[in-house]
Amino acid sequence: MSNPTPTQTKTRVDDIPTDRLVDAEAFLTPILFGLDQADLHELAEAAIEESYAAGDMIIQEGDEGDAVYFIVSGHVEVIKQFSDGSERFLHSSGPGEPVGEMAMLQEGGRTATVRASTPLTVLRIDREPFLKVLGRSPSLAVRILVRLTGRLRDADQQAISDLSEANKELSRALKQLERLDKTKTDFIQVSAHELRTPVAALLGYAQMMQQNSLARKDTSLRALVDGVVSSTERLHRIFNSILDVSRLMTDGLNISQSPLSMAVIFEAVQSEFADALKKRKITLQIKGLDNLPICSGDPDLMYKVFYHLMNNAIKYTPDGGAITVTGRKITMGEHGPGVEVIIEDTGIGIDPNNLELIFEKFYRTGEVALHSSGNSKFKGGGPGLGLAIAKGVIEAHGGRIWAESPGYDEDECPGSKFFVQIPRKPNSASAFFN
Ligand code: ADP
Repeated sequence: MSNPTPTQTKTRVDDIPTDRLVDAEAFLTPILFGLDQADLHELAEAAIEESYAAGDMIIQEGDEGDAVYFIVSGHVEVIKQFSDGSERFLHSSGPGEPVGEMAMLQEGGRTATVRASTPLTVLRIDREPFLKVLGRSPSLAVRILVRLTGRLRDADQQAISDLSEANKELSRALKQLERLDKTKTDFIQVSAHELRTPVAALLGYAQMMQQNSLARKDTSLRALVDGVVSSTERLHRIFNSILDVSRLMTDGLNISQSPLSMAVIFEAVQSEFADALKKRKITLQIKGLDNLPICSGDPDLMYKVFYHLMNNAIKYTPDGGAITVTGRKITMGEHGPGVEVIIEDTGIGIDPNNLELIFEKFYRTGEVALHSSGNSKFKGGGPGLGLAIAKGVIEAHGGRIWAESPGYDEDECPGSKFFVQIPRKPNSASAFFN
């Protein structure tokens, strides 16, 4: 080194001893080897020595990239700061390494924050002299390029290892959620099962009381007993629905493959609701079910589907309305021939935003009267399980269920249509439900 270069000094830490002041040219020579002596000299001339205490900020993310820093001694950490105040460590750099060159070359803002992680001394070279030398010196350009490529590769590897760590954490969390979900479902299933048994006994006793001649004679006692019976029936139905749903959620359904006649199923459904239809003055018209081919499936489960659909049609249709059930043969793409049953009512209708949500378990739209005790009373809300059960059963049969409605309007009553399609022979009887 021929001419010792005078280095401008800017000291941030007051007590740095003068014997540690840096000879910039001597320091930069091995780092930028291959660089023309005059260029090296020019850079050294432009270098300003700066010192920082541990924790000091050297570069703030977002600031203009107006200088490059060569670390003389100490270490820095490069971090990304987020708007919520959290930060993520990217990498660290130590003696001999430049920081901040990327934003300077891009003429853009700083993309990360650089902080001293130990007491630090750097040589700062401002943008203008650095770019001037860089423009003349291919060797400096190549050196920077190699360094940037290396940093990109390190960042890639870091990102891959971060991702795989995050993946592991996610799978751990998912397993825990699955365990919790299973515990919750088991709890619901066991509780519903345990509660259903005494409720069934209660219902039996209440029905016996209803038949009792003394109770039948006494009008006020009869009204009380009728109340006990209908409330207990309602409880019993709710526990049954909860059990159905929890079964759908856990084991899936075992679908028996028996002959399935929609006409026969609807006979049972019709007789179940005959009194309610009469009481509510709702007409029921059934069309085309007799001509449907016999399908293969589970009649008990299929009964539940149409029980819930018919129950809803009655509940959400005002007195004097009409329900029409229509059956027709269809072709279901790869599933081959199938049948479709449409249940149409002249009720309050469904908001288009809710047409899919209503099939979620425990979902009820906000407008219904939730505490009604009547199973078929107008707008008498239930536990929000009927459609979830219907969907689970139909999908377990390889079929589809959906609703259509012009909208929700209690005055105009635009009505709703529920479509059920099942293949004549389901190719897979496995239930999928969540
Ligand atoms: P719920 O026990 O509340 O009847 P469901 O799962 O059977 O539960 O139905 C979910 C919601 O879908 C109901 O609360 C109701 O808002 C809406 N819904 C279902 N069927 C009809 C229908 N035929 N007309 C209007 N709204 C309906």
